Amino acid sequence: MSTTISNPEMRTGATFRNWSGSVSTSPSAFYYPATIEEVQHIVRTLPAGRSVRTVGGGHSFTPVAAGADAMISLDKLAGIVRIDPETKRVRFLAGTRLHRIPEYLQPFGLALANQGDIDVQSVAGAISTSTHGTGIEWTGFAGTVTGLSLIDASGDRRDYSIDTDPDALRLVTVSLGALGVIVEVEMQCVDAFDLLAEEGAESLDTVLDTWEERSRAVDHYEAFWFPHTGRAMVKSNTRLAPGAPAPGGEPKVRGRFTRFIEDDLIGNGAFAAALAVARAVPRATPKLNGIAAGAMAANRYRSRAHDVFATPRRVRFHEMEFAVPLEAGPEAVREIRREMDRRNWLIPFPLELRTTAADDVALSTSTGRESMYIAFHVPKAMNPHEFFPPIQDVLHAAGGRPHWGKMHTLGRADFAEMYPRFDEFCALREQMDPTRKFGSEHLKQLFG
Ligand SMILES: Cc1cc2nc3c(=O)[nH]c(=O)nc-3n(C[C@H](O)[C@H](O)[C@H](O)COP(=O)(O)OP(=O)(O)OC[C@H]3O[C@@H](n4cnc5c(N)ncnc54)[C@H](O)[C@@H]3O)c2cc1C
Repeated sequence: MSTTISNPEMRTGATFRNWSGSVSTSPSAFYYPATIEEVQHIVRTLPAGRSVRTVGGGHSFTPVAAGADAMISLDKLAGIVRIDPETKRVRFLAGTRLHRIPEYLQPFGLALANQGDIDVQSVAGAISTSTHGTGIEWTGFAGTVTGLSLIDASGDRRDYSIDTDPDALRLVTVSLGALGVIVEVEMQCVDAFDLLAEEGAESLDTVLDTWEERSRAVDHYEAFWFPHTGRAMVKSNTRLAPGAPAPGGEPKVRGRFTRFIEDDLIGNGAFAAALAVARAVPRATPKLNGIAAGAMAANRYRSRAHDVFATPRRVRFHEMEFAVPLEAGPEAVREIRREMDRRNWLIPFPLELRTTAADDVALSTSTGRESMYIAFHVPKAMNPHEFFPPIQDVLHAAGGRPHWGKMHTLGRADFAEMYPRFDEFCALREQMDPTRKFGSEHLKQLFG
């Protein structure tokens, strides 16, 4: 039986630029398939010797999604395929953006188990780079994947499920688009919940001395340390069933307007102004960081989980982040502090500190161990290559694994030591894509 496949939308002359502006490329063709059959058609009809890369939200800091030949966006392949209210497993089309998910799940009383600090990524992009939030009891997105379907280099569909072959699923979940085009992702969701957020400033020493203890005591614990100061802003988010009373009394409910004032006007707006001053007068950086840390007033509010987890990020920056074994994390932060002092750097951006549970996803940055995530940023106007290598050395020496979507210069030999199943992944890639239909220069650095 033959079926007619419509030609997918194709644009030429388009430029792909990532969120931070560090990656810019003009693929010969940019495809926007609206069906899985169209994805298969693109892969099958790709001229010999050409490669194709799939992009999600374009929010990675490296060329991990970029390609000079063809690129595919799954923006038209978005929405829910299936919801199982009993198991709370939800199957999404892979191009679904995270910020659309709450409205899809609300009628079913479900939610994503945990989230990072933004929600503009696609489902496939988030799992493919091991994107994570914070919370010692919760894994990153990849750890919640219970099923996945991808289109391989022959254009055939391959389905993976945790019920039939968990090892195979765990091997292909974090794959950076190197094995094929992911078209569907099934995730383990949870009952919808609220978060009680409590924010305030504390001494960095206290935060580091109590990191593990506090991470275990609070559902979602995170801190932002302002370099050249001894202060950090801490955020403790407690999960509450909708309607359940908040311990310590009911706080204000965070409305849209409050959110705009706090996140956009005060957060992003004031921060952008401070960065502009720091750029004009770098010597003022420690003082400005001190003012920023001091200005973090204690804050307590409650909202639906996704409203608290994710906030807009309007100030552009470059980022490096490593997952360090939980117990080694606080000392690694202290070493970064000493390194910055030794080099007399002036860094106007806070470091972000988070934790996650261990998982068993082969290339997850938390595979096999609880992690402390340490993220180092510089504003877009600063040259990341001047600052990131020494920080990478510190974090690598502490046993850290770099975030797959953030800046680093490590390669195959390093990863073979970090990930017990790395060679198995490379062998699978060899078998599934021997001609590198899904290859790129960046993937060559990572996987050979
Ligand atoms: C402001 C900002 C905040 C961030 N916050 C966090 C955070 O809190 N936690 C965290 O862990 N990370 C964070 N990140 C990093 C971000 O989550 C990851 O880089 C993520 O991969 C981006 O998702 P995306 O949809 O934009 O994917 P892209 O960057 O477009 O792609 C990422 C990878 O996924 C692959 N891919 C995408 N779609 C498919 C598909 N359908 N099939 C196969 N492969 C595919 C691409 O080829 C590429 O290898 C942040 C980034 C920014 C810019």
